[in-house]
Amino acid sequence: MIWRNIENIAPRTFVCGFCRNLVGSGRGYYTDNSSPKDISVHLCPYCYRPSLFIEGKQYPGISPGSPVLKLPKDIDSLYEEARMATAAGAYTSAVLTCRKLLMNVAVSQGAAENLSFYSYVEHLSQKGYIPPNGKGWVDHIRKRGNEATHEIVLMSQSDAEELITFSEMLLKFIFEFPSRVPQK
Ligand SMILES: [Zn+2]
Repeated sequence: MIWRNIENIAPRTFVCGFCRNLVGSGRGYYTDNSSPKDISVHLCPYCYRPSLFIEGKQYPGISPGSPVLKLPKDIDSLYEEARMATAAGAYTSAVLTCRKLLMNVAVSQGAAENLSFYSYVEHLSQKGYIPPNGKGWVDHIRKRGNEATHEIVLMSQSDAEELITFSEMLLKFIFEFPSRVPQK
């Protein structure tokens, strides 16, 4: 793949939001001095995709967590959506998506439909998917999930990242690790 009409610009080192490699790039576009904002586009030398920088902020940002293998399609979509929302700075959306994700995971593990978020997290806990020292986590997640739904409380980056970390751990326990055990 070859980009046309690309200029040499002041190089920048960054973690590419697409391929997550740490790269240095001096190829792309920049604005002239008449612009009120510091804006540039840098091409990743690894995956060739363009990242946009506006006044030091990077788009797309770096999505937290890692992909999880062997997920059912719907659950994979929700998990990736929560990660992308966080990368885009849409933290409240990410928290709400994680909440929906955890509800779907609980239903996939035998919980009834149309229960409260509290019941779903409780279900996962009772099924043994939450590690012995994870009770504090469960209470925290439960509180976060409820806040985002019932009141207008905007969620922060750390709220979204915490929930994604928790979801990633659960998804690995429930879906990925069992598939790595040799089948009899
Ligand atoms: Zn890249």
